[in-house]
Amino acid sequence: MLKPNTNYKNLKDSYLFFRISQKVNNYLESHKGDKVYRLGIGDVSLPLCDEVIKALHEAVDDQANKATFHGYMPECGADFFKKAVAGYYDQRGIKLSEDEVFVSSGASDELGDILDLFDKSDSVLVIEPAYPAYVDANIMVGRQIIHLSSGKENGFLPLPDDNQKADLIYICSPNNPTGAVYDKKSLKMWVDWANKNKAVILFDAAYEAFIEDEALPHSIFEIEGARTCAIEICSLSKTAGFTGTRCGYTVIPKELEREGMNFNNMWVRNRTTKTNGVSYILQKGAAAVFTEKGQEQIKKNIQVYKQNAKCLMQALDKLGIWYCGGKNAPYIWLKCPDNMSSWEFFDYLLEKAQIVGTPGEGFGSCGEGYFRFSTFGSVEDTEEAAKRLVELFSKK
Ligand code: PLP
Repeated sequence: MLKPNTNYKNLKDSYLFFRISQKVNNYLESHKGDKVYRLGIGDVSLPLCDEVIKALHEAVDDQANKATFHGYMPECGADFFKKAVAGYYDQRGIKLSEDEVFVSSGASDELGDILDLFDKSDSVLVIEPAYPAYVDANIMVGRQIIHLSSGKENGFLPLPDDNQKADLIYICSPNNPTGAVYDKKSLKMWVDWANKNKAVILFDAAYEAFIEDEALPHSIFEIEGARTCAIEICSLSKTAGFTGTRCGYTVIPKELEREGMNFNNMWVRNRTTKTNGVSYILQKGAAAVFTEKGQEQIKKNIQVYKQNAKCLMQALDKLGIWYCGGKNAPYIWLKCPDNMSSWEFFDYLLEKAQIVGTPGEGFGSCGEGYFRFSTFGSVEDTEEAAKRLVELFSKK
């Protein structure tokens, strides 16, 4: 008899964003005509830049002519795309061969799919608060999850210790939700730990483009030793507004092996079996992100989000509310004032100032008492929200 995957029974309802939208809808229902200021979303609000749009249009036209038409693309990525990504890493002194770069339809897809490379019995360490997909994708496989809590005391950047055992570990830096970023020294400690324990780091670099401090690493491959213990998963979603367009990339070094098996070769085998690549049109659009003009244009958009971050950070500074993130990441992670719980603070902000954020408890139990502001909203709404925040807490 067919047996469904009963691991799905172990998934908790993903109620966070559902509960938020329910609460907002209820509020708007009973306060007709009110506007809410949304600092909760992780989606971008600015459109694709001109250089990407131009490349997409040209690629569409290519598909109209027999001479320039493209059918199936290479499963692991078009040469022009892989070359563009390798060139981007080269600017930071990271040498990749083009066949260490794989195109993807985005980081979410890869974070789940990449688990095919590991045995079900491998344990996985998740640093919390965390992007919820890390936990859920592993529950679906039935893998043992080790939760590593972080907090204000370590700046939400816990370090490994010798007693910590796991086969896989997710590191997200800059982090969603906390906005915290590992420096090279701390990341080196994780790399050394992974090599020593024969573990593999799944490094989520979805927010690398938001780093502004020169000394902070954008990629785990800036760290010596990472080529024997890490896979990097990246996305153009937040970097270049590809949330709805979908394209990302994954880097698997040739040296990454365990028990005589080579993960780069295995991923080639996986992709050539399970995908038929990412469309020619999308890869053309995505490659334009890495051109000189493309980089200039996406950086302008990122600056808009950074201005939002500044505006919110100024408000929090004025009010003396503790927070981290914001400077090198598009998220600000704050301590709820007056010892409110995450959901109490959510209700309070919605009722008193019509601001919508994300309760920290939704990212793991150690997120209780914290709150996430996203800086991806419109400038006008963010400015109004910051003003309302200051008014609300100055009155108290
Ligand atoms: N990783 C992190 C940490 C994220 O916050 C997100 C999206 O919010 C993703 C991955 C997924 O990105 P993508 O749109 O490429 O699937």
